[in-house]
Amino acid sequence: MSPTPISKFTLEGREFFVKRDDFVDPYLAGNKFRKLHTLLQTPKDTYHKIISYGGTQSNAMLAISALCKQKEWEFIYYSKPISQTQEDANIGNLFLAKKLGMQHIQVSNEGYRDTINSLGLNLEEKSFIIHQGGAVLEAQDGLNLLASEILEQSPPVKAVATPSGTGTTALYLALNLKEYRVYTVPCVGDSKYLQTQMLSLVKEIPKNLIILEPKKKYHFASLYETFYKMYKKTMEAGIEFDLLYAPSMWECLLEQTNEKILYIHSGGVTGNSSMLQRYAKKSYFIK
Ligand SMILES: *Cc1c(COP(=O)(O)O)cnc(C)c1O
Repeated sequence: MSPTPISKFTLEGREFFVKRDDFVDPYLAGNKFRKLHTLLQTPKDTYHKIISYGGTQSNAMLAISALCKQKEWEFIYYSKPISQTQEDANIGNLFLAKKLGMQHIQVSNEGYRDTINSLGLNLEEKSFIIHQGGAVLEAQDGLNLLASEILEQSPPVKAVATPSGTGTTALYLALNLKEYRVYTVPCVGDSKYLQTQMLSLVKEIPKNLIILEPKKKYHFASLYETFYKMYKKTMEAGIEFDLLYAPSMWECLLEQTNEKILYIHSGGVTGNSSMLQRYAKKSYFIK
């Protein structure tokens, strides 16, 4: 595949570069595409079933669905119970994933942990488990490829930025882009939790990895007026970013940095329709 392009845009008078990993595919894009690189290269007959679990807004869930559709693999996805409204929605990642053939299994809150922990036991032949958020050991191969594309394209920056869920993307970029500062922000839990996640993958967090701290405590997938405004602002500047991770990263970049930065666009815009629907119900701050 040829490298994804790098575009430029202006936000609050500052020029930013954007690595357009969102252009790869509508469903299988961004860092999830990078993390699934090894599986994408795997011959069809290696597996017949993929199993994963996590939230039903997940971008990884949708990316794995697209991968399985392409490979003609069965895809089973476990989540905690969701509301009837969420189940019946005809927009958003869950709807799209089911359309691609994903089988969704809801597990009670009490039984959830045990179910997930026992997925690996009695695993059928030719079945493979992808842990939450697309966390496969081989994720680094695809992320290393992303880093080498950046080195090759060498945009005129000394820093890159990518918001963190598991922190895998930020970590492997920092390890492979030693000459760059890598800015990230914790979107799931706080920085302490993010550091713990990273330390489960490596012995030491690289010095060039900088975890910025949001001014306010945000809860993942919750609605915030400032997030919506940031989303609007980037839309007006000509680029759509996701509503879960990107707004907090942009807030921190605008408030806490002043250098030229390459932002890694990790896709996720397919989830925006359902988020925007939730925002619309909070119409008091939507003008
Ligand atoms: C999954 C995701 C992230 C977080 O990636 P991690 O490697 O888990 O830190 C960030 N942005 C978007 C749009 C994502 O889909």
